[in-house]
Amino acid sequence: MEGLLEIKGLKTYFFTEAGVVKAVDGIDFQVGKDESVGLVGESGSGKTVTGLSVFRIVPQPGKIISGSIIFEGEDLLTKSEEEMRRIRGRKISMTFQDPTTSLDPLYTVGDQLAEVIKEHQRELSKKEAMEKATKLIEMVGISEPRIRVNEYPHELSGGMKQRIAIARALASGPSLLFADEPTTNLDVTVQAQVLELIKDLREKQKMSLVMITHDMGIVAEMTQRVQVLYAGMVAEVGETHSLFKRPQHPYTEALLQAVPRIDKRKELRVIPGNIPNLINPPTGCRFHPRCPYAKEICKEKVPQLELTDKGHLSACHLWRDLSLSGA
Ligand code: SF4
Repeated sequence: MEGLLEIKGLKTYFFTEAGVVKAVDGIDFQVGKDESVGLVGESGSGKTVTGLSVFRIVPQPGKIISGSIIFEGEDLLTKSEEEMRRIRGRKISMTFQDPTTSLDPLYTVGDQLAEVIKEHQRELSKKEAMEKATKLIEMVGISEPRIRVNEYPHELSGGMKQRIAIARALASGPSLLFADEPTTNLDVTVQAQVLELIKDLREKQKMSLVMITHDMGIVAEMTQRVQVLYAGMVAEVGETHSLFKRPQHPYTEALLQAVPRIDKRKELRVIPGNIPNLINPPTGCRFHPRCPYAKEICKEKVPQLELTDKGHLSACHLWRDLSLSGA
């Protein structure tokens, strides 16, 4: 598959008073053209910080320490702030868990969409941009778009706000969308509708998607490939189907066992313990204090990513010996 985004050796640290938090600590990550990839892990795994690093909007006291982020053949880490402003929104967009992050309460949704449209199509008149904004509102499945276009964010439901945030992210026709937990705050029915919308728009616009989530159910539904992060490092990478069927890392197995299944009368397992403190992460494999299979080597040596099968990689010393259960 032709590459679109290639991250290599990314390290993003936060320099806090308590010490250096190694939030992303040497991550490689690829997204192909027209591909949908899941970036998965519990909170604190580094998935959102990876997204923020691509956008170069890591909040203080965070800093990208090293690595490269090649997008369409160019390293985003060498771009000026002005160049990044043009890339953000035009070529790469992001939607957040809380849609109010990307919507301004003081402007109507029409004005906000028209602003993004005009930024990328300067030749359009205000009226033409508003017309396009109305079409976008209709495209994201909101009824009565001609009324909604003149409403303010507070007049919309949570689900509608998330749809408008998605419309805003897509207003410039980006080639890559980062969707960061876009359905976490929505009720189950609206959640399904928003996921269906993203899937549908991705196919129509031939856009690549990075789905950032802690929910393996969403990964199964939305992605072709998945990368599992644990405590700022890559645990496992593989095609979604094969990773669900034959996980090669105990952390992935634990995530899969934490997914509720109606068709399996299996007890839902909660992953014991918490994600470690990233100022002083555990030695060796960072998962070892929580791993039921840990051996002495796991405490001593950092496992490297190894090819376990075609396109499938695992960072576990014992992947050859373990017979892990899939979904
Ligand atoms: Fe568990 Fe050891 Fe594999 Fe880490 S390296 S996941 S501790 S078995």
